[in-house]
Amino acid sequence: MVEPEHDAALEDTDRLHGRSALVDNVKAAVALAGAVRSTLGPRGLDKMLVEEGGSATVTNDGVTVLQTAKVEHPAARLLISTSSSQDRAARDGTTTTVILTAEMLQNALELVRSGVHPSIIMNGYQIALAEALAEMEHMARAPQSEAERRAVVETSLAGKIDSSLTAHLTGLALEAADALAGEEGDADLERLRVKRLMVRDGTARESEIVHGMVLAKSRMDMATPANSDGGRIAIVDGDLENAKLELEASIEVTSTGALRSFHERARERLQEQVELLKSLDVDLLVVRDGVAEEAITMLTNAGITAYRRFEREDLERLARITGSTMVRDARRIKKEDVGTYSSRSEQTFSGVKHTRIDGSEGGAMTVLIRGTSPAVREEAQRAFDDALGVAHRLSGDSQLLPGGGASQIHLARHLRAFAPSQSGREQLAIEAYAAALEIVPRTLAENSGLDPIDVILTLSAAQVADSENGPWIGLDVMSGEKARMDEAGVIDPLFVVRHALSGATEAANSILRIDDVLWAKQDAQTPDWQSEMDQD
Ligand code: ADP
Ligand code: MG
Repeated sequence: MVEPEHDAALEDTDRLHGRSALVDNVKAAVALAGAVRSTLGPRGLDKMLVEEGGSATVTNDGVTVLQTAKVEHPAARLLISTSSSQDRAARDGTTTTVILTAEMLQNALELVRSGVHPSIIMNGYQIALAEALAEMEHMARAPQSEAERRAVVETSLAGKIDSSLTAHLTGLALEAADALAGEEGDADLERLRVKRLMVRDGTARESEIVHGMVLAKSRMDMATPANSDGGRIAIVDGDLENAKLELEASIEVTSTGALRSFHERARERLQEQVELLKSLDVDLLVVRDGVAEEAITMLTNAGITAYRRFEREDLERLARITGSTMVRDARRIKKEDVGTYSSRSEQTFSGVKHTRIDGSEGGAMTVLIRGTSPAVREEAQRAFDDALGVAHRLSGDSQLLPGGGASQIHLARHLRAFAPSQSGREQLAIEAYAAALEIVPRTLAENSGLDPIDVILTLSAAQVADSENGPWIGLDVMSGEKARMDEAGVIDPLFVVRHALSGATEAANSILRIDDVLWAKQDAQTPDWQSEMDQD
């Protein structure tokens, strides 16, 4: 028998085709979801992640678990990247995204088994997503009080750290987010403008926001004053070094005089730069790279206190709060580049001298993350990052949805009512999609030891019975009872729920689209030179 041509071309690959490719991919996705579903919600359990070296992290965060796991299966990797993209875009909802995707796939597989073509399912899933998104916008509302805004951020931290620290970090995150409100920039503005500084002294609950820049630096010349009540600041995004004598360049040094005059010229150049700064009334100079030794005395004589060697991000923040413009070349600094600072002081943190510079323009700050051990500080920092991520995005899109599975129960009911309006077999896919949404309340129930079926039935009935606030009734896992989620303070941002549902649908559909999986085989023909050499 003659082999078909395309198969001959694929003889070095393992191949899974059609249904078995789908089964294999769905199995991988379900296995991955199984690894994180027990972390969902504040009653979720923690996972201990042990690295090869033996160091361990305990976490309740789905995306951390997934990013650390060594996963080879391509479908599982796709799910991990979906959850990472949820983390980048919304900073929350990562576990939800994974379990939703796996559930959508599992329900799709059942339909395929009963004879529905994957392309019909993909189409139905798209229609269901669009309808769910529209209904979500309809359900969502703005926060009605400051307490509600707090509740949203606290919900995103629930179960991650103990509750009194949750309250404290939530307060800090909202304060920082408010200070950034109205600033131009992308979602990652919160990373760029908020400096995190871990400090050994004090407990995590004493972590605080400083509306200024705290920098692990001390002034170059101890003869200059340690503190100041404000003045004019210049920031150089370069150096204040001597021009280098390039030895490859052929300056023929014929006499000691020529060398001396070269040095003199370099010195004069530095002096000119210092004079320029002085003429602009600058009394504080911050330089990203080095400052030549001989410039230090010139600066001190000119009444300028200088600091050197900074991360660019710190300089950007400093420029923001002082209203200065960073200049690359100190010879080109202009009057309008100079900013003003309102105070400068020396403070000791973790036993090391730091400098604090305050400005009056706002738009950047430092968060001192305190804690008695490195593990505590790191945990507090991770929680603060999550809280700020949510709080900051909330300033841009403040719409809220009920948590505790309420949104998903309502959307599932809505989609079941909507399905008959659609043609033919797509209806089945929309129903499968609706059922998949219920994985969220089901898992929340399971993780708190409740019967998932009872919970779904109770919540659905309660939502139907309350014509006004029905969609806001969900499961409060802390009491184990149904409750109005706004009253229980279990509130999710619309952008988290929306992104999770879109991301999960997209991931599920891209896996459904796969009809063929080709695994490259190790080529047995290639001689293994290394082991032959080892035998010699
Ligand atoms: P994710 O990584 O998806 O954010 P989480 O473990 O943070 O996973 O769990 C988030 C889910 O937990 C959301 O659906 C949220 O509404 C729900 N949740 C948070 N607090 C409560 C609570 N007290 N009762 C019920 N559900 C809650
Ligand atoms: Mg969360």
